[in-house]
Amino acid sequence: MSTQDCIFCKIATGQIPSQKVLESDAALAFLDITPLAEGHTLLIPKRHAARMEDMEDDEIAEVARVLPRLTRAVLKATGAPGLNILQNNGREASQVVHHVHIHLIPRQAGDGLGFRWNATQYAAGRIDATR
Ligand code: 5GP
Ligand code: ZN
Repeated sequence: MSTQDCIFCKIATGQIPSQKVLESDAALAFLDITPLAEGHTLLIPKRHAARMEDMEDDEIAEVARVLPRLTRAVLKATGAPGLNILQNNGREASQVVHHVHIHLIPRQAGDGLGFRWNATQYAAGRIDATR
């Protein structure tokens, strides 16, 4: 997909409106349009990259730089005691919009959101072979 057709590039350049939460030279945070919880926020690099492995160290560092400040803002605005920070990387990992974005999903005790976290165990010696 060309960056011309990318919905988050259009949001980054202001061609499509968004509810901005925070902006820096290289990053933009805005409210997710179909939130899992009120205040669900997306943080994107302004420059197009489809997936995490497409990004340079410096580029993701510039995005990550605002994460503590953004986390404080989302927690304060929503009153949530916690949040999940999540990046779906690739179609198989539920990535639908192919411009890197980091979800901040406010959580409340008993909100029923959850996700499957089916932990397994390594067979003997497998953890060293995997590293
Ligand atoms: P993904 O599944 O790719 O990790 O998540 C994409 C997210 O982008 C979804 O949560 C979806 O609601 C959000 N989204 C898709 N299109 C738009 C849009 O035009 N504006 C905003 N604010 N969010 C969008
Ligand atoms: Zn894009």
